[in-house]
Amino acid sequence: MSTGRGARRTGVLVVGASAAGLATVEALRREGYTDPITLLGGEHHLPYDRPPLSKQVLSGAWRPEQTLLRPPRQLTGFDCDFVLGKPALALDLASRTVSTATGEFTADHVVLATGATPRLFPGTEGITGVHVLRTLDDALTLRDALRTARRVVVVGEGVLGAEIAATARRSGLDVTLTGPQSAPMAAQLGPLAAERLAALHTGEGVRLRLGVGVRGCTARDGAVTGVVLEDSHELPADLVVVAIGAIPMTDWLAGSGLTLDNGIVCDAQGRTAPGVYAAGDVARWHHPALGTAIRLENRTSATLQAGVVAATITGAERAHQPIPYFWTDQFDAKIQVHGLITADANARVVEGDPADGRFVVAFDRAGVPAAVLGWNMPKQVAAYRRALVEVYSPAPVPAP
Ligand SMILES: Cc1cc2nc3c(=O)[nH]c(=O)nc-3n(C[C@H](O)[C@H](O)[C@H](O)COP(=O)(O)OP(=O)(O)OC[C@H]3O[C@@H](n4cnc5c(N)ncnc54)[C@H](O)[C@@H]3O)c2cc1C
Repeated sequence: MSTGRGARRTGVLVVGASAAGLATVEALRREGYTDPITLLGGEHHLPYDRPPLSKQVLSGAWRPEQTLLRPPRQLTGFDCDFVLGKPALALDLASRTVSTATGEFTADHVVLATGATPRLFPGTEGITGVHVLRTLDDALTLRDALRTARRVVVVGEGVLGAEIAATARRSGLDVTLTGPQSAPMAAQLGPLAAERLAALHTGEGVRLRLGVGVRGCTARDGAVTGVVLEDSHELPADLVVVAIGAIPMTDWLAGSGLTLDNGIVCDAQGRTAPGVYAAGDVARWHHPALGTAIRLENRTSATLQAGVVAATITGAERAHQPIPYFWTDQFDAKIQVHGLITADANARVVEGDPADGRFVVAFDRAGVPAAVLGWNMPKQVAAYRRALVEVYSPAPVPAP
């Protein structure tokens, strides 16, 4: 076990150099933190943004540099030591020391922002032509492979799978989207919008093979030849993308003493242990208004949580009861969801018409507003979001 002796000392050590990690650094400086900050990243790239990977990067519309979260010139202004290409291997809680393969860092505060990693499909290891998409390197490899592919099968009908299917189809490929739900993103959008999304994909030429699980992949001479469904049907493919969810990157923290349960379990200010915090996809924060801990895998939450962690470190306790939010872009549809859509929620169209490709759906549970979904109606959905404030972000009750 590390004692921290001989380690490099820093004020704040942020582990994970992406959306949540960089936003923590920026927020700390904004809050007036003046001690040294070190940002430790497992990837070799400067911090970049992930949402464009399945859209503009995959389609070839953007060059990799366009995904940078901040230009190099601006990064210099944060007066932060960037240590890239060095994954953290272990955390010693008592001394707040993080080890890498080549050295150790001891900090007054450690912020864990290591994100998530794709869930893999068992039995596909080592088969060429089977891809996942999480990193810039994944996106560039997949983009290049799509250029010579003919038949693409996307396994996983959640948001990432649906986006990849849309982008690949827009590039003129033969694309099949498969997964166990009855429509793409059914769990995240509710049946009404998910059926509209199914119609959009079908209308654009994506083949939907839904409502059935996937058993595995077939291969010849080490190269993928298809996907076998639970009903024994085989979908031929020369390229398969597996998008079946992501797992919080906590392996390296096993045995550290932190509470790990579908992410790093934190209080409502991002604390997980004295002087240790977590933010972004890896973190499961207590949500006071909901009375439970939730882990949000979306871009907005990464930035918001980073701001709260920076405030916690600098002593400016900030209440955090977010209204969860995500967006997705597929073909000509921008879909935005505020709040949490659950299977027991009632849905009704409150603006526009699904048939026109512009509408807003409001969801409630037993009459209590639960979520609002906008389809190509950003202004209107923002107005309906106000009804959620009382549910997710009520004003704190003053102390007696
Ligand atoms: C392709 C794609 C498209 C998306 N599109 C949308 C969208 O349209 N809308 C939306 O709201 N959200 C979207 N998201 C989700 C959004 O990008 C994430 O919520 C966001 O990136 C989370 O930021 P993060 O910093 O917590 O984690 P990440 O972005 O995953 O960053 C974590 C970083 O930590 C590094 N790391 C991991 N382990 C270690 C270690 N041991 N040591 C050091 N570094 C480590 C990783 O390499 C990575 O660079 C998308 C995600 C993907 C992958």
